[in-house]
Amino acid sequence: MVKQTDSATAAQAASGGTPLDVVVVGAGFAGLYMLHRLRQVGLRACAFERGDDVGGVWYWNRYPGARCDVESMQYSYSFSDELQQQWRWGERFAGQPELLDYARHVAERFDLRRDIRFGTAVKAAHYNQASALWEVCTDRGERLRARFCIMATGCLSASRMPDIEGIADYQGKHYHTGRWPHEGVDFSGQRVGVIGTGSSGIQAIPMLAQQAQQLLVFQRTANFSVPARNAPMDDAYERSWKDHYPALRERARVDTTSGTIYEKSARKAVEAPAHERQREFERRWEKGGVNFMHAFNDLMVDARSNETAADFVRAQIRAIVRDPAVAELLAPKDHPIGTKRICVDSDYFETYNRDNVRLIDLRTEPIERITATGLQTGRSHYPLDAIVFATGYDAMTGALLGIDIRGRSGARLSEHWAGGPRSYLGLMAAGFPNLFTITGPGSPSVLSNMIFAIEQHVEWITDCMVWMRDKGHDSIEAEVAAQDDWVAHVNQVADATLFNQANSWYLGANVPGKARVFMPYTGGVVAYRQKCDAVADSAYQGFRFERVPAKPAGAANTQDVDL
Ligand code: NAP
Repeated sequence: MVKQTDSATAAQAASGGTPLDVVVVGAGFAGLYMLHRLRQVGLRACAFERGDDVGGVWYWNRYPGARCDVESMQYSYSFSDELQQQWRWGERFAGQPELLDYARHVAERFDLRRDIRFGTAVKAAHYNQASALWEVCTDRGERLRARFCIMATGCLSASRMPDIEGIADYQGKHYHTGRWPHEGVDFSGQRVGVIGTGSSGIQAIPMLAQQAQQLLVFQRTANFSVPARNAPMDDAYERSWKDHYPALRERARVDTTSGTIYEKSARKAVEAPAHERQREFERRWEKGGVNFMHAFNDLMVDARSNETAADFVRAQIRAIVRDPAVAELLAPKDHPIGTKRICVDSDYFETYNRDNVRLIDLRTEPIERITATGLQTGRSHYPLDAIVFATGYDAMTGALLGIDIRGRSGARLSEHWAGGPRSYLGLMAAGFPNLFTITGPGSPSVLSNMIFAIEQHVEWITDCMVWMRDKGHDSIEAEVAAQDDWVAHVNQVADATLFNQANSWYLGANVPGKARVFMPYTGGVVAYRQKCDAVADSAYQGFRFERVPAKPAGAANTQDVDL
């Protein structure tokens, strides 16, 4: 456990002193940068983090094989040139330990820990209309008041165990990829079952197969995956980035769809001759990474084009996997490629050629229950010493709605969002003044490079708060009409893509009962940034501002809020 340094600010605030300017919830990459920027502009802030250290998703996801699918040179902060020049990445795609080291380095370098309370989860945040303050309560019984509450809670931080009967009866060990034990797990000599073949499962399976005596993979839906071709960082490649970082970061801002620079194509797949298409897919497959999905510019909007890429990947799977029946089960056929987050792997399909790995198709033999000793499907009982749940997250809204958030007149965010998340620009929800969400639903968020998206939101929010301070405003709130227009626009641009054709977590489809709404903004980071900047330049059109009336001398500036 990292030693906690209580700051004077946090201690004073927690003891009921002067309200803070800002409470930040979460100390992952979003929370860290938010704290840094707030300090730079002279706002008093503290952050609460439920983990015992910084890093967010890279603190929790310690499963073997956990690795970022955006290249290290781009999945990194751009706000400090010294940081980006001095930090040295060890691999083309950084693994979880290196990413956690990076987050720790940033926390040390900018002296952020003194304003973070670790091992502390925020349970409730209620808005007090009279004082225009948020009243925040933690699981350690602390209460504090702050003008702004900023949710840096992450999009993939509420991990989900599936609703499978009998988990409590199981006498072996079980693990969720998103809550991996810090001390690691030794599966040597064990019969291990993995449930789930999304990005996490696909990364973990090759590593688990190297250790376990026998690995059974329980697959419900086959997923598209492209090889990472990960390698130690090439010095010349690193230098080529560092020599041109300012220009390249700017290019990411103005000339990409996701904030990550890929090799863009000006061609449509349907218009390219078949042999050229094949050559281009092959070239990108050999280079590795998500760059594959940029081979042509219409893969996500034209079903016929998409099918050419999907066919190519299916052919690769059939070429890699020796058993044709297994290859057929691994070849995805029920959704267009890319409509579920494309996976990036190291030797995933090759792993099925190992003698100790077996694929169980849950479409032909669904899971009936977990027993004391293993897993019962409609066909067999599989004895297992350990089960790994790679079953994903209540994405984008799960962590937010896990907190009892109440806005104006006590309205609950969970009720406000019962039919799916509604926000203006993914930054604020009407009825919840002074509550910002970093990379919230309605922004490009998970469809983009997350650190890139975080930086844009943090900078926009900071500028907005400074503007409010200069103008003497106490509260900012999204207007309902602006929110309605934005939500309609988010849906409209999503409908113009193929994304709605998959039962993905983007749509909430993986959580029973969750409203089926496409949550991230598909319009691209350039259009999104332009919209955010235009709103700011027009004195924050679509938001309204208020000033708290001065109280008569002696009158308290708060009212009781039931926390
Ligand atoms: P996921 O993509 O939601 O995959 C969950 C898997 O569990 C799916 O295969 C799902 O099958 C299966 N599953 C869920 N409930 C089940 C049940 N009751 N029975 C059988 N199977 C069940 O979750 P994830 O793999 O953790 O990935 C989530 C996201 O995290 C990714 O899409 C990515 O954005 C991010 N991530 C990124 C990286 C990276 O940077 N490389 C690595 C890991 C994760 P169905 O498809 O049939 O529902």
